[in-house]
Amino acid sequence: MGSKWVYAFGGGTAEGEGRQKALLGGKGAGLAEMSRLGIPVPPGFTITTEACIAYQRGAKSHPDGLREEVAEHLARLEELQGRRFGDPSDPLLVSVRSGGPVSMPGMMDTVLNLGLSRRSVEALTAAGADARWVRDAYRRLLTMYGDVVMGVEHREFERILGAARSEQAAENDAELTAESLERVIERFEALIAEHAGRPFPQDPQEQLWGGIRAVFDSWDNKRARDYRRLHGLPDDMGTGVNVQAMVFGNRGGDCATGVAFTRSPATGAKGLYGEYLVNAQGEDVVAGTRTPKPIGGDDGRGGMRDEYGEATARLEEVCRTLEAHYREMQDVEFTIEHGELYMLQTRTGKRTGPAAVRIAVEMVDEGLIDPKTALARVEPLHLEQMLAPDFDLAEKQKAVEEGRLLAKGLPAGPGAASGRIALEADRAAEMAAQSDKLGPVLLVREETSPEDIVGMHASVGILTSRGGMTSHAAVVARGMGKPCIVGAGAIAVDESAGEVRVAGKTLREGDWLSIDGTAGEVIEGRLAPHDSEVLQALGGAIEESPMSTAFRRVLDWADAERRLAVRANADTPDDARRAREFGAQGIGLCRTEHMFFEEDRIQWVRRMILASGAEERRKPLAELLPVQQADFEGIFEAMDGLPVTIRLLDPPLHEFLPHGEKALAELAREMGIEPAAVADKAEALRETNPMLGHRGCRLGVTAPEIYDMQAEAIVRAACARRRAGGDPVPEIMVPLVGTPEELRVIRERIAAVLERVQAEEGVEIEALIGTMIEVPRAALVAGEIAAHADFFSFGTNDLTQMTYGFSRDDAGSFLPAYIEQGVLPGDPFASLDEAGVGALVTMACEKGRAANGHLHVGVCGEHGGDPRSVAFFHQAGLDYVSCSPFRVPIARLAAARAALGVEGPEDV
Ligand code: ADP
Ligand code: MG
Ligand code: MG
Repeated sequence: MGSKWVYAFGGGTAEGEGRQKALLGGKGAGLAEMSRLGIPVPPGFTITTEACIAYQRGAKSHPDGLREEVAEHLARLEELQGRRFGDPSDPLLVSVRSGGPVSMPGMMDTVLNLGLSRRSVEALTAAGADARWVRDAYRRLLTMYGDVVMGVEHREFERILGAARSEQAAENDAELTAESLERVIERFEALIAEHAGRPFPQDPQEQLWGGIRAVFDSWDNKRARDYRRLHGLPDDMGTGVNVQAMVFGNRGGDCATGVAFTRSPATGAKGLYGEYLVNAQGEDVVAGTRTPKPIGGDDGRGGMRDEYGEATARLEEVCRTLEAHYREMQDVEFTIEHGELYMLQTRTGKRTGPAAVRIAVEMVDEGLIDPKTALARVEPLHLEQMLAPDFDLAEKQKAVEEGRLLAKGLPAGPGAASGRIALEADRAAEMAAQSDKLGPVLLVREETSPEDIVGMHASVGILTSRGGMTSHAAVVARGMGKPCIVGAGAIAVDESAGEVRVAGKTLREGDWLSIDGTAGEVIEGRLAPHDSEVLQALGGAIEESPMSTAFRRVLDWADAERRLAVRANADTPDDARRAREFGAQGIGLCRTEHMFFEEDRIQWVRRMILASGAEERRKPLAELLPVQQADFEGIFEAMDGLPVTIRLLDPPLHEFLPHGEKALAELAREMGIEPAAVADKAEALRETNPMLGHRGCRLGVTAPEIYDMQAEAIVRAACARRRAGGDPVPEIMVPLVGTPEELRVIRERIAAVLERVQAEEGVEIEALIGTMIEVPRAALVAGEIAAHADFFSFGTNDLTQMTYGFSRDDAGSFLPAYIEQGVLPGDPFASLDEAGVGALVTMACEKGRAANGHLHVGVCGEHGGDPRSVAFFHQAGLDYVSCSPFRVPIARLAAARAALGVEGPEDV
């Protein structure tokens, strides 16, 4: 029907081109493009993915015209190579290589040396070809064809080959003599005949079509189908088939085969990185039967340059051409035949996060790409990996060599941690309390549950033997920013025996164990995690490195593109400073309750709580005022010139009292209060459902002196800073508002305090007063609330909790099941539920702005550091997001990618 099924490549031209990945498959498109670029590629032709689909639809028969087109292209190839396919004395040999639009394990890969037969092996030898090489090529054909086309198990061939090696006392296959190989061939032929029930086909045409058919069939085998299902790939892409003239890396000492990256996939450093094997063919490099040699770094010495000076120089030139053309790091395959270089494959190379960042930045410097493209190629996850603590590479390698790599699991939380094993959460907390003596604690459990939260907090890392990437342990650890490995199935956690059994070893509670959550590796004993290179450079602890420079520059470009501002959630001057180093443009959430827990003030907080009325509360509040003021001064100083949003007291008061009768009696004695009175007060404060209880602005209404004190501390701190020459920018935030009236009443009192204090201090401070939007009702009446607010800050943690009616602390018992069964696409506390919670955000934003044209709107929930949610907030038109200091760089990049309209990872 006029379809063209076959596209030629090689000899400096090609019928297809690089853009036609869907039609030619990735491999075929790459071969065509390289041919067009004048890169030396053995010629051949590609059968299209459409032919494969037509074959599948046509009940596994070749579509009309395919045979003829293949015959024509083969004839052209024979002419180009000056050899005939099937000629016994000097045959054209080809490979048949599969290659779909996306690379897919589970499909047939490749058969080399097609066209050889018993007869041609003898005729070639008689005509003077190297006897060893011819037999080596034929035994490889028998193995690959026998395995992938005729279904004889690969290890059967390996067994025979191994026996031949020991008979000859050969170290490896390259040492096998022609005589040994002759015997191997006889045994291979017998093996195939026996296992496949028919002999290996001696007719080259039959070999060729057997190969093509096997590639077509492999598209539809179970492994390939399962893979597509798992990765959401469509079934109608089909695979291409590449038929290509052979070149030989196994034809003597001046021949080799290898793979290379145009830049280091580990560090991104420029230069040829890869491996090669002398006198070898194709798969040998990756098969692991012989140890390949490193090509050598970019220092211009050693490695392949010494053995193959000219071919190496040519390879470098080809790599430059490819990078200049694709504007991406390439992963290539090559073969050297008698000193001559041939390229066999090129594709975009996979790389680590840090390498991705460095490559993108250096490519901008080299003029290969522009900063916008760099921003599309660097993913938030890459930056996260650059900030995570890691182990010293040499130290880790040594541990692995010593056999201390105990197990592998899923890399659920990036970063490295080393600590003493605790098998129960309570134990972890107890041990952590003595961490000055014992050192850090590592929590090891079969799986975790919400009761374990405290223990997880107390630990430096978490390891579970069960669970997936969305298990409780994984979700919580990521939220806490802790290194975590889940699903390390080789580990048996025996809580009752107090031991962990793995790899034939028994570890006990208190023993040292290390985890690399980036790699998913569990290592016996103690390793020293250290701050990542980038983090150290940012803090000024070490000199700038290419890695830290790249990190900085990507973020500079991000800042130029993004519209959303990024603030940090920080409660202390130290956090504020760190946030600033990471580029925060202010504090979006400063929680004051953390300050209340500190040793020098908790007694005054408790006295304030136990007080029987406003009058009795006065004294403790007066004691707390100067300490709060000092806290705020420190934070204003660290954030000088940038806004600091301070949230007034939020948690219910009983959280500040000790638990249990004994502790309460103790407290009463300390404070000189009747124990019965203390017990009564504690009982009165007890709540059935504290999350929905007497907290937030409800405290502001019932015990307004507390907010009065906090407001006064904020303004006095700002005045003090101003007198010291600083530029404080306070914003006062009222939590948990649900009705306009709550905010009106509280705002009025705060405003009065502000006025009084400013008059007393003789300093004018402009402090915004606003509210959190975290109760669904607040979103619904946002217009009315906005009349009393200078700003809104969406508390999306509580808003999610109350919109779904999911308790954050209890959702761990059912959320994993929800996600596994597809009831929810993911954890709504980690990535914003756009349809529900997001709709409330959008609506509140619109209503609020319509009512108050000056309204400033931000987000301070965990979602502010989640790239997908950040993209949503950008779309929704918010002014800023606020997240934990460590996530500030991630939010900056995510905001830029949202502004640029980059969706997910770039499709390369
Ligand atoms: P895969 O997708 O598994 O890498 P390939 O089709 O790339 O499979 O081939 C496997 C190996 O065989 C590679 O090392 C490749 O370079 C080599 N190879 C394939 N075709 C030829 C050929 N015509 N000449 C020499 N080597 C080849
Ligand atoms: Mg390949
Ligand atoms: Mg809240």
